[in-house]
Amino acid sequence: MTELLFREDAYLRSCDATVVAVHGDAVELDRTVFYPLGGGQPGDTGTIGPWRVLDTRKGEAADSVLHMLEPGATPAPGMKLAAAIDWERRHRHMRLHTALHLLGAVVRAPVTGGRIAEDKAHLDFDVEMEALSKEQIEARLNALIEERHETRSAWISGAELDARPELVKTMSVAPPRSEGAVRLLEIPGVDLQACGGTHVRNTSEIGRLAVARIRSEGRHNKRVTLVFA
Ligand SMILES: [Zn+2]
Repeated sequence: MTELLFREDAYLRSCDATVVAVHGDAVELDRTVFYPLGGGQPGDTGTIGPWRVLDTRKGEAADSVLHMLEPGATPAPGMKLAAAIDWERRHRHMRLHTALHLLGAVVRAPVTGGRIAEDKAHLDFDVEMEALSKEQIEARLNALIEERHETRSAWISGAELDARPELVKTMSVAPPRSEGAVRLLEIPGVDLQACGGTHVRNTSEIGRLAVARIRSEGRHNKRVTLVFA
């Protein structure tokens, strides 16, 4: 099992690690700062030793992480290497991921999907188009950002989560469970959600946002897309 360092400290940019397994171009480490694709957030890129990491995915076992190396890399079990993420890219993911928590608090409707990229992010809501005002959403989001809300994570048991279904707002994304426990992201007074992603410490770090567009993607999917202003 890989020690997921990003889960306790999303600001860690690098770590020393030992290769524990190699599957073709994918390596597993004993510990990692690389976030694997999940919950709408892309997998990290970066370097492990002399090689580029092109993408990061979850492995089959719980808490296993596959670092997809550039073709031609020659890692071997037992190698001790430095692992470093592309921090600028990850930090943008953290800002936009935290922004989606705010968006979910501003638009009071069931969330049917979501996705984060480096320069934009969206949530899909099961709601009527008339209920979504670009100006209003933008104003409320930026107010929450300027109010400098702290964020923090906590853990609860899977049984506790099952008893509190309101903690899972995104119906299509089941939160990851680690040894029966589920991670919560709390923005006190604003939002409380089961979430395994990486977030900024304070909403002010997101920076000013704009609503790029609001578009219907189907009867139950009204998509609100955010960009950095
Ligand atoms: Zn999150």
